Order: sequence, then structure tokens, then C-alpha cells
Amino acid sequence: MPRKAPAKISRRCFLATAAALAARPAVAATPQPAPAATDVIIVGAGAAGIAAARRIAAAGRRYVLVEASDHIGGRCVTDTKTFGVAYDRGAHWLYAPDLNPLTKLTPRRGIEVYPAPPSQKIRIGRRYAREGELEDFLAAEVRATRAINDAARKADVPCEQVMPNDLGDWRGAIEFMLGPFGCGKELSQFSALDFSRAAERTTATFCRQGFGALLAALAEGVTVQLSTPVKSIDTRRSLTVETGKGTLTARAVIVTVSTNIIAAGRIQFSPELPHRAIDAFGRLSLGSYDHIALELNGNPLGLDSDDLVFEKSTDSHTAAMLANVSGTPLCLVDVAGSFGRDLSARGEAAMVDFATQWLAGLYGAEIKKAIGRTQATRWNADAFTLGAASAAVPGAQLARRIMMEPVNDAIWFAGEAAHETLWGTVGGAWESGERAAEAVLRRMGVLKTPAPEAEAAPKPKLKGARPAPRERSSFGATPSIMRPER
Ligand SMILES: Cc1cc2nc3c(=O)[nH]c(=O)nc-3n(C[C@H](O)[C@H](O)[C@H](O)COP(=O)(O)OP(=O)(O)OC[C@H]3O[C@@H](n4cnc5c(N)ncnc54)[C@H](O)[C@@H]3O)c2cc1C
Repeated sequence: MPRKAPAKISRRCFLATAAALAARPAVAATPQPAPAATDVIIVGAGAAGIAAARRIAAAGRRYVLVEASDHIGGRCVTDTKTFGVAYDRGAHWLYAPDLNPLTKLTPRRGIEVYPAPPSQKIRIGRRYAREGELEDFLAAEVRATRAINDAARKADVPCEQVMPNDLGDWRGAIEFMLGPFGCGKELSQFSALDFSRAAERTTATFCRQGFGALLAALAEGVTVQLSTPVKSIDTRRSLTVETGKGTLTARAVIVTVSTNIIAAGRIQFSPELPHRAIDAFGRLSLGSYDHIALELNGNPLGLDSDDLVFEKSTDSHTAAMLANVSGTPLCLVDVAGSFGRDLSARGEAAMVDFATQWLAGLYGAEIKKAIGRTQATRWNADAFTLGAASAAVPGAQLARRIMMEPVNDAIWFAGEAAHETLWGTVGGAWESGERAAEAVLRRMGVLKTPAPEAEAAPKPKLKGARPAPRERSSFGATPSIMRPER
């Protein structure tokens, strides 16, 4: 879940039908069972798995990349069929483009990337916030993020515990932006240190063809075995991986599935994973974040392309809207956190109904007539993901390092959760996949360079010194410039 440019991070059972609608890359979906032996097995063809496969192949080693679903991309997938335009069902914002590993890899042909607008709007009832109100909001937001960053220097407490008392009537909006919108969880369940260590996400770019299409372009030439769920991984003698289509053997396995998939026991490990690893996956659980996609023909809200709108809400029963995505009639009403989780559990119709009422409350009941086709993601119900993106519970930021420790010298974990600063993002997943691949290549004696510090994954110090958080407003950071009232 995306923390959007301002703020966002910050931050689906569409398996059978919807996934079939997703943009597909020119991957070779091998119909035959995989070869019995290879160098590296990679589990999951999301950003981390694709990055790992490319890195292993670049080193001249063999890999088998197995994917449980019938498409690649995982939580970064573009659907072009539902609305006839690019609709990112998961990730949409390419955060921190200057640092994002995907920026320099973006193909020049067929993919157009452009900057996201730097500002957002806030709706107060039926009008937009005025300049003075936005200044009040920004000042309150800075106080909140500073309080969390300051607290994180001393202890990894719940963000909520250190929220200032002087946020006034902006409290509800700020709590939504920094919590559910930023990381998919309420501030009471979110680690101050995780918040503080998150890399700056206040700038972003969009991909006109969809972020999923960009990722699919990067997967061209990567061979993937689709519809091949891994059931178990056994390292007792040699390494064997049991899939729905047979048994694979290899020298190493890179597992990139979400933390919730591991915590739910969807893959059986023999011997069992060490207790500290099991604990780490549980404490890096996924937040809830979903898009309710509405087609609003004729721009009835009078908004610009890619305008991001929040509400000055009094509680967490709110949303954020990305309007006119890349200049199309597609609008994404995003719901998150415990409210979003409860809503998505009630099904797509309830989600669309909420989005309709929410928009009607902010723009008038007439808006209902302008709504055309609709669709809502339900990532918590997606059997191969079980949520949106990881957010450490209080006290658990260091669990991200534990995830990077190899198990039995044969299993490496990767994915968005295995990144200390870019967690919850596609860029972080990509980097972690590359890093795990390099660790495996090093173990195989193919790479001679020493392991970077994070990869070496030293045991975290539970007491005493901890990495000093950077001084900035980061996660769910709010707009630096807000537009005046219209
Ligand atoms: C609604 C939403 C909005 C988001 N917005 C943004 C955003 O704007 N910007 C951003 O950077 N990030 C965003 N994110 C987060 C981003 O999508 C993820 O961090 C990233 O895509 C995770 O990549 P991954 O490779 O770690 O995991 P995944 O993409 O989950 O890949 C893991 C793969 O493993 C497969 N798998 C699962 N179980 C098995 C099994 N047993 N055997 C084989 N394969 C299996 C899955 O099907 C999946 O394809 C968003 C996420 C969501 C849900």
C-alpha cells in the first residue's frame, strides 16, 4: 500500500478473472515441468522475483522462477481490460525517482514516465481548503512527523503514542495520511522507527502505461513457470522444492512471497524456520490498502490530471482520491487501515457504495449519475498475497534485517519487507531481489565482492545503540505545496 507522493505511500480475489485481464508481458510460460535441477529456484514473480531472476541470469547461472498465480507482477500489475485504459491494481507511484532502481531501467520505447503533480487538495465538506487552512494543516503535519522522528531516536514505540496534542481539528486527516494511507495500518499498530527510517516518498513519477506494464517490460526475456505454487521447501538433505507441478532441486532458493503468506504457513519448511524468522514475518505483517476504481466520464469533479484529493476527516472512515489517472476518466478512491480492511471484507459492492457516498458527500449527490464502470481490489482476499504491503508493528523495525539472514545456508528471503528504507515499495522489492541474488551468487563463489552491510545482516542489537533516524518528514509525508482554493 502506497504512501503517495505527498504522503502516500505514502502505501484482491481477482485471481481467476481479474488476473486474466492483467497486462501480460512477453514471458515464456513454460508448459512443461521444470528441469529437475538448477542453480537457483526463485519463488514468486513479483518485482523481487523478476529482479532476482535477471541478476542470476546476468551472472550466467541457471534459475527456475515459479509463480503461483497465472500472471507475473504480484502486487504491481496493470489491468487494461476493465476500463480500456491502464489501471494499476496495486502499485502506481514510482517513489523517489532519483533513487528508485526502476528509473534507470525504464525502457525508452513504449513506456512513458512523467512527474506526479507535487501538490494535493484537501476537501472540507463541499469546498476546498483555503490557503490559511492549508498552512495550519501543514504546520500540524510537520509537528506530527517531527514528534514521531524524535521519539524513534529513543525507542521504537507506536507512532500514536507520541502524536502531539495540538493537532486540533486536523488530527483525523493527519492520522489517516500518516497511518492507513501511508502504510495501511493505524498509527497505534505502526512502529515509529519504521516510519522514521522510511526513505523519502514525497516525490514520484507515474507511468502512463501503468506501473505494472513497466514491470512487465522489465520481465521480458525472463522465463516464468506460471500457475506453479510452491508447497514446501526441504533443506534436510539436499534442497528440494515441492510445487503443484512437481519437485525441483537446486543449490539455493530465493523466496519472495509476502510476509503474510509465510506467516499463514502457506509454504511448509522442513526443518521449520528458526523462531526468530517466524517472529520477524509475523511482526512485519501487511497493512490493508485497496483501490476502488470508478469511471467518471466528462470530468464532473473539474479536477486536473492526477489530482490527489484528501478529506478533512474527523475519523478514519475516509479515503483519498487520485482523479483522472494519466488524463483518463479513471479515478481511484483508496481505502486503507482497519476501516479499509472491514470494508473490503464486505465485498466489492459495499466498497463501490462507500466510494459513491463519499464522493457525493464531498461533491454533491449529482456526482452519482456520472459514475460509469466500477471495480474494487481486495488484496486481503488475494490468496497469493493476503494483504497490501508490510509495516512493522511497534518494536519490530529490526525484523527487516532478520528477514535478510539466510536459513540453513540454502534459503534467502527477499521482497518489499526485506528492505530497511524502501519497504512497502516496488523499488524496495526490486533492490531486495537483486541483493538476495547477489548473496546467493557470493555463496556459490560466482561473485567475489564482499557482502554489503545490510546483506550481511548482523544480529540486531536489541538494547542500546540503534540506527539514528534521519531528520525529515518522510512516510506519509504530506504535501509540501498545497494548491489554493478553487
Ligand atoms: C493497493 C496497493 C497499492 C500500492 N501502491 C504502491 C505504490 O504506489 N508504489 C509502490 O512502490 N508500491 C506500492 N505498493 C506496494 C508494492 O506493490 C509492493 O511493495 C511490491 O509490488 C511487492 O513486490 P514483491 O516482489 O515483494 O512481492 P509480490 O509482488 O507480492 O510478489 C510475490 C509473488 O509471489 C507469488 N506467490 C505467492 N505465494 C506463492 C507460492 N506459494 N508459490 C509461488 N509463488 C507464490 C505471488 O503470486 C506474487 O506474484 C502497493 C501495494 C498495493 C497492494
